[in-house]
Amino acid sequence: AKADGKNLYRFFDAAMNTLSDQRFVLLKDLRKAVKKDELRLYYQPKVNLHTGELVGAEALVRWQHPERGLLTPVDFIELAEETGQIVDIGNWVLREACKQCKAWHLAGHENLEIAVNLSSVQFTRGTLEKEVVKALTQAGLEGCHLELELTESLLLGDAENVRCQLSDLRRHGVSFSIDDFGTGYSNLGYLSKFHLESLKIDQSFVRKMLDSKQDLNIIIAIINIANSLGLATVAEGIEDALELERLTELGCDLGQGYYWSKPLAAEAFSELIQRING
Ligand code: C2E
Ligand code: CA
Ligand code: CA
Ligand code: CA
Repeated sequence: AKADGKNLYRFFDAAMNTLSDQRFVLLKDLRKAVKKDELRLYYQPKVNLHTGELVGAEALVRWQHPERGLLTPVDFIELAEETGQIVDIGNWVLREACKQCKAWHLAGHENLEIAVNLSSVQFTRGTLEKEVVKALTQAGLEGCHLELELTESLLLGDAENVRCQLSDLRRHGVSFSIDDFGTGYSNLGYLSKFHLESLKIDQSFVRKMLDSKQDLNIIIAIINIANSLGLATVAEGIEDALELERLTELGCDLGQGYYWSKPLAAEAFSELIQRING
């Protein structure tokens, strides 16, 4: 039994090493990913549930790794946050997303908005406002077409510092939404402290809403909170017609999910705009 234990230990030790080796290799590659032009943006439609119209897109980053293929955020965002590389990546995402939104405007879809995810790490250097303005200016995009998606934990962290940066950003017309709403801390006091546009109902609630009364009730509660604070609601992860129907009945304003489309490369997204908005 003793020998077995030792072997088991060796086995875990080896497995751990490979894991950290992999992280190390990925880390080295990630450092060059922006320079080597390996990042890609995919776009998922946001649809107005009252009118059925496509009103914008959320930009979601991918990494076209030379050996490993197309990596999704689960494979590298956490690592990028730990090492601070998310700042460069996030700045690239902002620039690319604004450029693409402007391209859709020039193609005749002047009202489309673009939403970009922000990491809390992007608030630590005090350069976010400058980077956002740079992205807007380079693209020739008005700030009112850019929406920044924030997490609950970000607003609860160093709230004073974050609040200052958000109000600086607001002066350029950009708006803010809370991502994955309902999964973070239940301190609701912060909602009225920040000037927010919308709450995004986390997809875990939408996924279960047809089977679980409890999840349905959470969605109803979130819509009520949003309504009483004058915020819009966005349901994430809508996959089928029944979910869409129920959320529309409940008065949810916007929706996102595979029901309309997975995140798409820019070209395919342009075709989707045509298909939905004509
Ligand atoms: P998120 O912001 O909550 O984005 C929604 C995620 O749900 C996306 O995964 C999207 O592909 C997926 N999704 C959308 N509709 C459906 C659906 O109907 N069913 C299911 N099962 N999934 C759906 P993705 O693209 O893998 O992104 C994962 C997370 O990575 C994002 O979650 C976001 O937190 C983060 N992320 C993505 N891009 C960026 C970025 O540029 N910067 C930062 N900081 N984080 C990013
Ligand atoms: Ca998001
Ligand atoms: Ca706006
Ligand atoms: Ca989300």
